[in-house]
Amino acid sequence: RKAAAFGVSFDTDRDTSGASAIIDTEKQSNLLHQRKRLPVTRYQREILYLLEKHGCTVLVGETGCGKTTQVPQMLLEAGWAAGGRSIACTQPRRVAAITVAARVADEQGCTLGREVGYKIRFEDVSTSGVTKLKYCTDGSLLREMMDDPLLTAYSVVMVDEAHERSLSTDLLLGLLRKVLVQRPDLRILISSASLEAEKVAGFYDARTVKTSRKRPHQEAAGNDDPATALTSSDPGNGKPADLSPAILSVEGRLHPVQVHYLDEPCSDYVVTAIESAVNLHRESVPGDILIFLTGQEECERAVTLLEEEAGRLRRIGGKNALRIMPLPLFAGLPAAQQALALEAAPRNYRKVVAATNVAETSLTLEGVTFVIDACHVKQKTYNPRTGLEALLVAPISQASAQQRAGRAGRVRPGHCLRLCTQEAFSQLQQATVPEMQRSELAGTVLQLKALGIDNMMRFHWLAPPPAEAMVRALELLHSLGALDDDARLSKPVGCQMAELPLEPRLAATLLAAVRFGCGQEIATICALLSVHSVWASGGGQRKAMEEAQSKFATAEGDLVTYLNVWKAWEDSGRNRKWAERNLVSQRVLLRAADIRNQLLYHLRRLGMEPISCENEVSAVCKAITAGLFSNATRLEGTVYESVDADYSGTNSYSLVRGTGGQAVRLRIHKSSVLWRVRPSMLVFHTVQQGPSSWHEMQDVTAIQPEWLPEIAPHMFQSVARPRPQPGGM
Ligand code: ADP
Ligand code: MG
Repeated sequence: RKAAAFGVSFDTDRDTSGASAIIDTEKQSNLLHQRKRLPVTRYQREILYLLEKHGCTVLVGETGCGKTTQVPQMLLEAGWAAGGRSIACTQPRRVAAITVAARVADEQGCTLGREVGYKIRFEDVSTSGVTKLKYCTDGSLLREMMDDPLLTAYSVVMVDEAHERSLSTDLLLGLLRKVLVQRPDLRILISSASLEAEKVAGFYDARTVKTSRKRPHQEAAGNDDPATALTSSDPGNGKPADLSPAILSVEGRLHPVQVHYLDEPCSDYVVTAIESAVNLHRESVPGDILIFLTGQEECERAVTLLEEEAGRLRRIGGKNALRIMPLPLFAGLPAAQQALALEAAPRNYRKVVAATNVAETSLTLEGVTFVIDACHVKQKTYNPRTGLEALLVAPISQASAQQRAGRAGRVRPGHCLRLCTQEAFSQLQQATVPEMQRSELAGTVLQLKALGIDNMMRFHWLAPPPAEAMVRALELLHSLGALDDDARLSKPVGCQMAELPLEPRLAATLLAAVRFGCGQEIATICALLSVHSVWASGGGQRKAMEEAQSKFATAEGDLVTYLNVWKAWEDSGRNRKWAERNLVSQRVLLRAADIRNQLLYHLRRLGMEPISCENEVSAVCKAITAGLFSNATRLEGTVYESVDADYSGTNSYSLVRGTGGQAVRLRIHKSSVLWRVRPSMLVFHTVQQGPSSWHEMQDVTAIQPEWLPEIAPHMFQSVARPRPQPGGM
């Protein structure tokens, strides 16, 4: 295993022989030295003091100042996890929860999953009764509230990365506000990398109290001595806290970052980013380069391009020249590869990391002095009129761009190149719209209902979602049978759906599958839809990949294709070699196997025994229809457009349920096995917004028109036949 001090080690079977103990001690003191130098460490007294005094404390500090890794350890060491309760620290991203927990376990010198653990959906690496500090996704803490609404297992909940304003973070903040009233002994620490603090604090109380480094606690707490908080032998001893929230700003040590813009807009930001990186590299100024792109595909493409350039440069530069070390960084990356991007580069190498916005604030990279920002991000958008939630590559906000630029100033003054003109930059919106206001809310509403909160409109939202989106969510849940006519959680279906750790449509699919006698198959499909792609992304070998996929492809569509992959893998005895040969990811399939078991466990806990339909594929497709009928589309005709060669003669679909009078153009995404097949009717799992206002459907399943009125008569009265002639767009 890795001996490097920065290594994220995920192995749990530590060698306890003498030699490794010495290395560990050295590593520990190394880590301790690093920890001491972090800006947040200087604020330990203030943080502990405010936490003791106030029910809610807002902590603001630059990315990398130590909020996520250090503050929970301070609480741990001050005794907040004594007496059987533990400390939770929430993250909007799974990858951050895992990585940070591993780092902190290292710093504490413990095995990950013991004193320090993590919990994300479908993966709990913590030990009950032993784990004192748990990093979890905001979503998984929400799930815990279903069993423990007052979060009695915790003495402190730290809501981290609050500036990201993820859907679950916003929801959690709204709920914690209610919990605090009933649990005066609970402490909430909200940490943020930007100055949204005032707003958040105001949300917890109108009487905002401020403190600063120079005058710690004075305004906040009269003449009390912060030292008493430190010496208090029994922190969080159930004493009620001051109900007014406190704000503490940690002054970081960010070096100035000079920002540059393009003179002319660029047509392909991946190519421009690589050219810029190579130019920077040639100028031989020291420091690593971080490139912000939007998704896995782009990151992999960038790495491929960089590898070509690196080879060329090596041939010109000779033996001793500084070399480029291209690395990707995105959420689905295996842990070992991720660690490479986070660690310092080896001597004689310059890291060039092509990252998604996980590197914006969630993960800190060492040694970056140049940031190249494509100024785009892949994010959710929701149109309540059409009821479609889609992933969309959109320009980032200025606030986000500022965060990204900041990544260049951690070690010394840095540079940031934004791949747009200054003019275009000035047109960007100031701040990112909170996810709550651009998401489909069915899952959120279902969760709130399950927590007994029935009046959504009166719930205290940090940013209220559009009323229209709320109405849509209620409609969808009603059509799925989760709500009764009075909009209350139905029994048993609504309650069961809320119990299952799946979004409402998939939860409904799984429950229907049990009725249709294909619970085993749909559990597999739901598991496979809950992981990153089963196909091993083989940078560039597009053709080989298509061939591999075609072996499993069926006319029923992508979901049944996944099922075929799964069955073949099972038949091989879950053989790694088999997986390699067929270009599927062993790692992802193993994870899916685990998720599948959990789903089956949930069903059994709800008193259901899922069986297999053997080879009765139509049962599987019907169950899929029973969950996804709101995503049913019919083929309208063929549209010829010259702009997009791949799609020339594009199949054009429309939503069967209608789109509230709005024109929506849907087509099958290129990655689908049905891309060229164009069935007359299908249901999709997700859509992505593509070029020229096309919505591209992913994970599609062909269905029979008569199934819709049969399976969802409340939505579709008559047989929903495709229209005879191609409709106009
Ligand atoms: P914040 O939450 O304030 O952004 P963190 O607590 O995440 O800051 O990180 C503090 C410092 O710890 C970082 O500057 C980085 O140097 C170091 N660090 C954190 N996680 C890792 C890791 N996985 N590998 C190496 N260094 C890390
Ligand atoms: Mg952090």
